[in-house]
Amino acid sequence: MIYADHAATTALSPAAYEAMLPWLQDKYGNPSTLYSLARDPRKAVAHSREVIAAAINAEPSEIFFTSGGTEADNWALKGTMFQYDRRKGLITSVIEHHAVLNSCVALERMGYAIDTLPVDQMGIVQAEALQSALTDDILLVSIMLANNEIGTIEPVAKLAEIAHQGGVLFHTDAVQAIGHIPVDVKALQVDMLSASAHKFNGPKGIGYLYIRKGVHLVPLLDGGGQERGMRAGTENVAGIVGMATALQEHIEHLQQEAEYLNVLSSKLIDQLKSKGLDFRMNGSHNRIPGSLSLSFKGADGEMLLHRLDLMGTAVATGSACDSKDTVLSHVIQAIAAPQEYAHGTIRITLGMDNTTEQVDMIAQQIATILH
Ligand code: PLP
Repeated sequence: MIYADHAATTALSPAAYEAMLPWLQDKYGNPSTLYSLARDPRKAVAHSREVIAAAINAEPSEIFFTSGGTEADNWALKGTMFQYDRRKGLITSVIEHHAVLNSCVALERMGYAIDTLPVDQMGIVQAEALQSALTDDILLVSIMLANNEIGTIEPVAKLAEIAHQGGVLFHTDAVQAIGHIPVDVKALQVDMLSASAHKFNGPKGIGYLYIRKGVHLVPLLDGGGQERGMRAGTENVAGIVGMATALQEHIEHLQQEAEYLNVLSSKLIDQLKSKGLDFRMNGSHNRIPGSLSLSFKGADGEMLLHRLDLMGTAVATGSACDSKDTVLSHVIQAIAAPQEYAHGTIRITLGMDNTTEQVDMIAQQIATILH
């Protein structure tokens, strides 16, 4: 089998797996308790928080563990807005993940005003669009660091600067970026940032929200006093340790990984071209390494996905078939890809476990299906 859907999830790294085991078995103490069995888990959580904070140039006290990216996004948006009058507003973009978009739908239903910015044909949010959308009633801007369908990296530092000039907080969903490109919260000037471990070879069901010191959010989960009273629930010690271990591995090899994945991506594109296939690459050149959104002329993305699956290759699509018609994803619609290509969109996201032989094989399989 060839796994080429690393933006969906990744395998747990062997080092993360090993690091997690003691906290699931012998050292199972609840970190909040007072006896000695809790001491080691408490230290492990504290150490992991340091590693995770250092990876984005934050302080450990600015990292709050969550159940993943979805919870972190929900918390950033709702935890900010719930403090204020319902007539207040939030600005986001049309290409956000549904964790953000559907949080906005929920907030809108409660009476908050949501303004959704368009993107250009490369999938980039324009600074001028944000500038003109900022009004006195806006409290928060939430724009993702990297898009999960087309890999495009957004100009977050510039957008955050504009938000701050208007006295508005800035959140970024960095779920696809953390562990894959350098991220520095101070350079980006973000107030909040979401991340999820299973996108960088950590375990599923664990992530974090970075909250800059001085920024206030209301908790969404009430209960015990964990995470300094901000996020109740017994800590997922094994998950937290696994996340820190996997992240550390990625951070140490960031450059090498990017180089390798860029080579694989170029090879795939060259192979597809050499086979005479008519396709477009979606998104900007400034993208997450290994992330490719390809639209094949006259093809059906979902059919392509299923045929590739039968041949043993896992990819994602940018469209989904309902009973009559192919429905384009919100991202492919937003970048206004030409119709004759848009319906034939697949997302190939390569990882360090992919080889050049596998990339050749994927190109060959696509050519066999489409010719
Ligand atoms: N945000 C983005 C950009 C994502 O790609 C994902 C996962 O697909 C999420 C949020 C949700 O993260 P999680 O699966 O940890 O809830």
